[in-house]
Amino acid sequence: MNELDDLYQEVILDHQRNPRNYARLPTANRQAEGANPLCGDQVTVYLDVKDGIIRNISFEGEGCAIAKASASMMTSVIKGKSLAEASDTFKRFHQMITDGQDPCFDLEAMGKLAVFSGVNAFPVRVKCASLAWHTLNAAMHKPEATAATDEAKKDPEK
Ligand code: ZN
Repeated sequence: MNELDDLYQEVILDHQRNPRNYARLPTANRQAEGANPLCGDQVTVYLDVKDGIIRNISFEGEGCAIAKASASMMTSVIKGKSLAEASDTFKRFHQMITDGQDPCFDLEAMGKLAVFSGVNAFPVRVKCASLAWHTLNAAMHKPEATAATDEAKKDPEK
């Protein structure tokens, strides 16, 4: 294992042990739940969106180190971004972990999220690392909550 791998391991373990923004968000006006049955990861992402800006974000959930660290890092990166920026970051993150071999991919532009680039070699881990991001994406595409969510209602995105 080289030094870079060690650093990546450290960053992921740090986020797993001390998850950032790990709480229910009382001011949330959008939220979504996601699950990765392959690994048993579960996550709920809360967003406080106003005027197209994600003013606050948090998550709760259970899961493996990768899932938890990815959710934690996602919240710290996404907080304060516009919905368009967050959506773009989701797409690039997804591309990085599913198609990481593309030599044209700008890994440096991913900043600290680049620590997850190695998971593309492990298809099962890709689902762990992307769970929080897919859940964020689902939350962003939901209308603002005004009443209790209707569990039976089908997601129009699907
Ligand atoms: Zn997992």
